[in-house]
Amino acid sequence: MKKTSFLSLEQAREISREIPTPFHIYDEAGIRQTARDLNRAFSWNPGFKEYFAVKATPNPYILQILHQEGCGCDCATATELLLAKAAGVDGEEIMFSSNDTPAEDYRLARQLGACINLDDATHVDFLAQNGGIPETICLRYNPGGSFSLGNTIMDMPRDAKFGMTEDQMAGAIARLQKLGAKRFGIHALLASNAWGNEYYPELAGNLFRLAVRLRNATGAEIAFVNLSGGVGVDYRPEQPKSDIFAIGQGVRAQYERILVPAGMGNVAIYTELGRFMLAPHGMLVSTVIHQKHIYREYLGLDACAADLMRPAIYGAYHHITVLGKEDAILDHVYDVVGGLCENNDKFAIERSLPQVEIGDILAIHDTGAHGYSMGYNYNGKLRSAEVLLKIDGSFQKIRRAETPRDYFATLDETPFHFDV
Ligand SMILES: *Cc1c(COP(=O)(O)O)cnc(C)c1O
Repeated sequence: MKKTSFLSLEQAREISREIPTPFHIYDEAGIRQTARDLNRAFSWNPGFKEYFAVKATPNPYILQILHQEGCGCDCATATELLLAKAAGVDGEEIMFSSNDTPAEDYRLARQLGACINLDDATHVDFLAQNGGIPETICLRYNPGGSFSLGNTIMDMPRDAKFGMTEDQMAGAIARLQKLGAKRFGIHALLASNAWGNEYYPELAGNLFRLAVRLRNATGAEIAFVNLSGGVGVDYRPEQPKSDIFAIGQGVRAQYERILVPAGMGNVAIYTELGRFMLAPHGMLVSTVIHQKHIYREYLGLDACAADLMRPAIYGAYHHITVLGKEDAILDHVYDVVGGLCENNDKFAIERSLPQVEIGDILAIHDTGAHGYSMGYNYNGKLRSAEVLLKIDGSFQKIRRAETPRDYFATLDETPFHFDV
């Protein structure tokens, strides 16, 4: 499938007169459509709810849009809890799926009435002392071994720090019941960016069977199964899109095969999708500021890995459109780079593009999740602005770019000044 930019050159020029590049831009219409599709794909399950993984796109404007579409927030830290709260999301609309959790984070999560997802059995007593045990509580599972889909090993849960063993879950449930818990959820995240439609149904099968065993072993009421995140997106043009309707039906088949016959036909399904919800609906918009001709041809952008670190740290592919040259032939090969003093600061290596001139505006696709949010300040690079492209075609700055004042702001009460 040809990947197309949701932003035209004219729109990019208009925005950049007010908000200079680089900036991340998000497409409100696309975000709402994906949320509606997800809710429709799981509408067979009356208790279904998506808790958007805040770490993917931690901007309250985005969280608000998703909340209007019925999504809550999945948080892992106190700051993410504050972001959810700022967006008007609290109480049971927050899932707190943390690990290695500080006491004060648990206390804040309990104060907000969030649903707690325990990463470990030892956290039962830790939570009892730091916020107290709620009536409804979730436990995170680690099955150990390897996790495969067909012949493909997706991940190695036995090497992952997350979750607890089945025996530990049963013990934790018994202990939690003594401490007043009444309803339980179970959760696992066993793959990341899994594309194709098999991951969620396979995971759901595993968790549904676990839910039946835990109910039988402990007599506990399993109220929900949280499938967490991990559904992938088509970063490459040749990849198929995840079909959320096929995924929803795949989960439904497992539900009817495993839970319904066990008398557990009112278990709610929860998800904590991040990438699937937002990645395709964000782009990093950047201007070519230099061209360099040595052993390769280089395009130097005004953005760098501090704005989007996935290519640098994972070698991840992000598609690039040269705005205004959508239909030009791809008869040039470039390395597309940022200005960090690190040779891995390359958005693309030996990428076929049309002929590019200094001043051209590039859209780097699929940065709506784990894009801005993974940004950092290496080399004194300052994080970019975030812009919302609204349904009516107008735009709104939803986060300004950082300035040197922000960089200096944590040097409390020092004699250093940022002015020149
Ligand atoms: C990162 C994360 C998610 C979201 O993962 P995606 O790959 O963005 O869907 C959901 N739940 C937990 C606990 C996570 O750590």
